[in-house]
This record gives sequence, structure tokens and C-alpha cells, in this order.
Amino acid sequence: MSLPPESIVCVECGATAHLISFLPVDELPEPGTAFAYRCSDCMDRFDMVWEEEPE
Ligand SMILES: [Zn+2]
Repeated sequence: MSLPPESIVCVECGATAHLISFLPVDELPEPGTAFAYRCSDCMDRFDMVWEEEPE
């Protein structure tokens, strides 16, 4: 398993959206946990639901 990325590409403008949610310090996130990102350009907020990676 891996962790949610620190940043994603904004679907609105193509700029970089940074993770604004805190990741768990010593455990992997539960599948279904939502992580929030905010775009540094258009300031839109996105929620990405963390899914378990396919086997
Ligand atoms: Zn944007």
C-alpha cells in the first residue's frame, strides 16, 4: 500500500492542488477516508476518497 499523494493536478485549471488534510502519523489511511486538496491557483477544493490499491 502507499499513501495519498502530497499534491494532485487540479481538474479545473491544471495547476497543482496540495493536500490540506493531515495524514495519520503512524498508520495507513483506512480505505474510504476522504482527503482534501486545495488548488494553489484557482483555490478550488477537492476531496479524494482513498481507495485500497487493487491487488
Ligand atoms: Zn485549480
